[in-house]
Amino acid sequence: MGAPGSGKGTQAAAIANRYGIPVISTGNIFRAAVASGSELGQQVSELLTSGQLVPDALTDAVVAARLSEPDVVGGWLLDGYPRTLSQVAALDVLLSSQGEKLDVVVTIDVPFDELVERVVRRGEIEGRSDDSRETAQARLQVYTDQTKPVIDAYAERGIVRSVDGVGAISEIEARISAVLAD
Ligand code: AMP
Repeated sequence: MGAPGSGKGTQAAAIANRYGIPVISTGNIFRAAVASGSELGQQVSELLTSGQLVPDALTDAVVAARLSEPDVVGGWLLDGYPRTLSQVAALDVLLSSQGEKLDVVVTIDVPFDELVERVVRRGEIEGRSDDSRETAQARLQVYTDQTKPVIDAYAERGIVRSVDGVGAISEIEARISAVLAD
C-alpha cells in the first residue's frame, strides 16, 4: 500500500516477479478497461480522470473475479486494493471463503510534498490523464481520508510492515525484500 506516487506499482511488479506470482492491480485493470472502451471502462472513466474512487461494489467484484482465475493458486499480490474499510471487509469475506488470508501488508511511506511532485512528473512522462497537479492533490486527499484507515485496520491485526519510500528504486526494493524475508 502507498499513496499515489509512492512507487507501489513499480515495487509491486518487482516483488511479483521475484516470487513468481501475479500482481493484481485494480488501477491497471481499470485503466485497461478504459483503454479498451469496455462497459467497465465506460463506467469508471470519469472517476479515474477526476481522481475519485470507483464504487466499492464494482471494485470488489473485479477483484473477486480476478482472484478466481487459475494463476492465483500459488499466491498473489494486491496492488491498490483494498482502499476503503468496506473493501477490507469484502476482501475478508472473499479470502475466508477461499480458505486464504493476507500474510502481510507492506506500506511504502513517502512525504506528502514529494508525492505531489512525483505524480506530476509521472503525468508528464506517461501521459496519464489522472496525473495532473490538481488531480494529484485530489487523489492524495482521497488517500488520506479513505485509505489511511485501511492501514490502521491492518496495523491492529499486526500484519503491517512499513518501509521508507524515499531513495533509489533498487534500495526500496531491497527494503521490501528485507521485511518480506523477516
Ligand atoms: P492507482 O493506479 O492504484 O493509483 O489507481 C488509479 C485509479 O483507479 C484510482 O484513482 C481510482 O479511481 C481507481 N482505483 C484503483 N484501485 C481502486 C480501489 N481499490 N477502489 C476504488 N478505486 C480504485
